[in-house]
Amino acid sequence: MNIPMSSPDLTDADRQAVINVINTPILSMGKYTVDFEKAFCSLTGAKHAIAVNSGTAGLHLCVRAAGIGAGDLVITTPFSFVASSNALLFEGAIPIFVDIDPKTGNIDPELVADAAKNIEKHLPRKLSKVTGQRSLKAILPVDVFGQPADMDAINNVAKEHGLTVIEDSCEALGATYNGKHAGTLGEFGVFAFYPNKQITTGEGGVIITSDDKAAHFMRALRNQGRAPGDTWLQHTHLGYNYRIDEMSAAMGASQMSRLNEILSKREQVAAWYKAGLSQVEGVEIPFIEPFTTRTSWFVYVIRFDKKINRDEMAKKLEARGIPVRPYFLPIHLQPYMVEMFGGCEDDFPVTEDLGKRGLAIPFSGVMTKEQVDYVCQIIGEEVSK
Ligand SMILES: *Cc1c(COP(=O)(O)O)cnc(C)c1O
Repeated sequence: MNIPMSSPDLTDADRQAVINVINTPILSMGKYTVDFEKAFCSLTGAKHAIAVNSGTAGLHLCVRAAGIGAGDLVITTPFSFVASSNALLFEGAIPIFVDIDPKTGNIDPELVADAAKNIEKHLPRKLSKVTGQRSLKAILPVDVFGQPADMDAINNVAKEHGLTVIEDSCEALGATYNGKHAGTLGEFGVFAFYPNKQITTGEGGVIITSDDKAAHFMRALRNQGRAPGDTWLQHTHLGYNYRIDEMSAAMGASQMSRLNEILSKREQVAAWYKAGLSQVEGVEIPFIEPFTTRTSWFVYVIRFDKKINRDEMAKKLEARGIPVRPYFLPIHLQPYMVEMFGGCEDDFPVTEDLGKRGLAIPFSGVMTKEQVDYVCQIIGEEVSK
C-alpha cells in the first residue's frame, strides 16, 4: 500500500478554476484574489483579509503593521514551525520563548503572564546582560496542529500589559475556540496554504484583521509599498513583493467553497486514527481541549512512551512503508537560533520532551479507512515487538 505523508484534497473544479485564469491575460492582482479574500471575511467575520504569497509573508506583514522593530521583545513559543519566530527576526525583534502546555503543545498562558511581568527573567542567554531600551511589544501564539491556543488567557495578559496579539493560525484554518474562529482571536491572524495544509494554493497565505489602518498598510507593503493613489513607480513605503498570483487565488477560492467538506473529511480520518490507536500500549493520541469547539486537523501527531525510542521507531515505520516525521524540532535549538541567542538543551523541557516523543504519521482528508487501518496495524505491530 502506497501511503503518502500528506496529500492535497483537489477536485476537478479546483483544477478548472486555475485553467479559467490562464485563459485570461490577468495573472496577478485580479478578481480571483478579491474573491479569495472575501471568502475569509465571510468565514471568520473579520473586516479585512489580505492574500499574500506565503504564511511567512503574512506573519512578516503583521510584525511590520504592529510596529515591531529592532530590539523589541515578543513572547512566543519554541514549539512551532520556524516561520513564527523568523517573522520577528526579519525585523530585528527578539523572540522571548516560554514553554508549552504538555497536553496540547500550545504556549502555556501562565508562563506568558509570568514573562510579561518579569521579562528580564525570560531574556535569552546571549542577551540577558543587555538592558536599556528593549520593550515588550507583543505576544505571538501559534495554534499548533490545528487547535487554538488558550486565547482568552493570552488576551487577558495582552490587555493588562498593552501588548498586540498576532495569532499564527497557519495550522488552524476553520478551527474554533469557544465558538470563535481561529485567526480572529488577536489583532491579527494568519493562515497558510502550502500543499500539506488543510486547503492549498501551492504557495500562499492570508492575513485577517479588523484594524482598518493596519489593513491598508499591509496591502501597500504586499505590493512593493505602493499606497492608494501611488502609480506603478511610486512607493510610499519600504515594501515587498508578497502578492499572490491569480492561479493560486482561484484555486484557493475554489477550495474555500468546500472548506467545511474538506475539514469534515480530515475529522473523519482523525476519528479513524483515534479508534485505531487509543488502545495501543505506549502510544498517546492528540488531546483536545474542551474550549476547542472545532479542531481543524492539520497533522496527526502521536507521542511515544518514554520507554520507546522515537527515532528508532520512525526508522522501523519508514522501513515498512509508512512515512513519518518528527514534530517539532524545537526552535531554540535550531543552529542559527543557538548562534544568535545561545539556546541550550533544558531551556524549555516540555517543548524538548514533546519534540523527542512526537511523530507525525500519514494524514490527509483523502486517506481511506483501509490506509488508516493499515498504518494503525503496522504501528501496533512495531510497538509491541
Ligand atoms: C505553515 C506554517 C507557517 C507558514 O508557512 P509558509 O510555508 O510560509 O506558508 C507559519 N507558521 C506555522 C506554525 C506553520 O505551520
